[in-house]
Amino acid sequence: MTQHPRNAQLSSEPDRDRVMGALEALHARYRDCNEGRIADYIPELAKVDPESFAISIVTVDGEVFEVGDHEKKFTIQSLSKPFTHALALADRGREYVMQRVGVEPSGDSFDSIIRLDANNRPHNPMVNAGAIAVTSMIEGDTSEHRLNRMLEMLGRTIGSMPTIDQAVFESERTTGHRNRAMAHLILNFGIIERDVEDVLDLYFKQCSVVVTTRDMATMAATLANGGINPKTIERAIEREYIRDVLTVMHTCGMYNYAGEWAYTVGLPAKSGVSGGIIAVVPGQFGICVYSPPVDERGNSVRGIKVFEDLSRNSGMHVFETWHQTGQVLNHIDEVKDPSPALPDTTQPVGDATVHKREFELEDPSEMN
Ligand code: GLN
Repeated sequence: MTQHPRNAQLSSEPDRDRVMGALEALHARYRDCNEGRIADYIPELAKVDPESFAISIVTVDGEVFEVGDHEKKFTIQSLSKPFTHALALADRGREYVMQRVGVEPSGDSFDSIIRLDANNRPHNPMVNAGAIAVTSMIEGDTSEHRLNRMLEMLGRTIGSMPTIDQAVFESERTTGHRNRAMAHLILNFGIIERDVEDVLDLYFKQCSVVVTTRDMATMAATLANGGINPKTIERAIEREYIRDVLTVMHTCGMYNYAGEWAYTVGLPAKSGVSGGIIAVVPGQFGICVYSPPVDERGNSVRGIKVFEDLSRNSGMHVFETWHQTGQVLNHIDEVKDPSPALPDTTQPVGDATVHKREFELEDPSEMN
């Protein structure tokens, strides 16, 4: 029987030169981009080098493609959130987690403090309020036990045990008043059921875990690979919860940019204020882009540009048919030109005075 060409394509290995060529072209295209600002509301984060820029891809077969400063260490920040969500689901089950944290995009910024949903739950586990709630669900008898369980879980998805950047942790802990206020608000609504300072310490430590783009791409590849780390071939996340995590990443992972991201890039993803973005091409590979300057929504500027270009012609978007039929990496170098800029949706369209224009109405006495 002759093999169907589509099946042949499915089993084909990605061509190393093509993939590396595409990544190098994207790196060169955006290396000199100087838009965005380093997040400095966590003082320690302000010390990073804005020039750092790296892209790593890890496939479900464990193959690695990377360019730029891929050895550079940075703190994971919110890139940790999908993984602690998975741990909370494994520890407490779907029902318990969903009763306390929703799965609706909030349309608000990541640190929005004002809005809980109609049942006083955080909207989703990707915004800070929801992530703090989810972190409070990690089981363990003592603070140390809970911390170890979290680090072990992240370690299984990375392939080695991570460390914590103590300076970033202390910086977050001493300045994280907004997160503290949020934690107290959800404590008030019975979402948190443990000592609130202990929960916050664990959350700040979670955000201060040190990673590289390769670590993060491996973590994303673990999600792409149904929960099995492609490097260690060890199960890191229960198969059952991969769907939950990827769905929430798809709808909420990029905060108040999640809709536009789903439209232009079309991949489950997560960003963090330290400048990382991870995305998952289910069944194929994970990617991480790192570049510290972020936009007003807290998403890496270069990161977004790289993903938009990558997704434009490669068939990476989950709703593109190529994705169903073959190896996306074989189309990766069809990134000929930069993606056209989207309209700036942060500004109102037109001038409000337009709507104050007077209408010439017919004289009612002449109407019959
Ligand atoms: N540690 C950060 C905070 O809680 C994480 C936010 C983020 O990466 N978007 O504010």
